[in-house]
Amino acid sequence: MKYLLIFIVVIVVLMLHKKNRASQQASHQQRKAQRLSAPEPMHACTRCGVNVPASRCVWDAQQRPYCCAEHARPG
Ligand SMILES: [Zn+2]
Repeated sequence: MKYLLIFIVVIVVLMLHKKNRASQQASHQQRKAQRLSAPEPMHACTRCGVNVPASRCVWDAQQRPYCCAEHARPG
């Protein structure tokens, strides 16, 4: 009877360990997928030529990309 109890405890521990590893692998895969998501297009600043991600560009009236508001200012 004692050995049966020890056997059951060992099985439960192994199952919990396996479940934990599976969830860790799933979250690792998810992070990897997020890291490898589609790249963002880059645009060179019209004034200084620095490459800036499209989401951080400042656009003027003629839709030209700039790295910052300072460079987008005319003059
Ligand atoms: Zn610039």
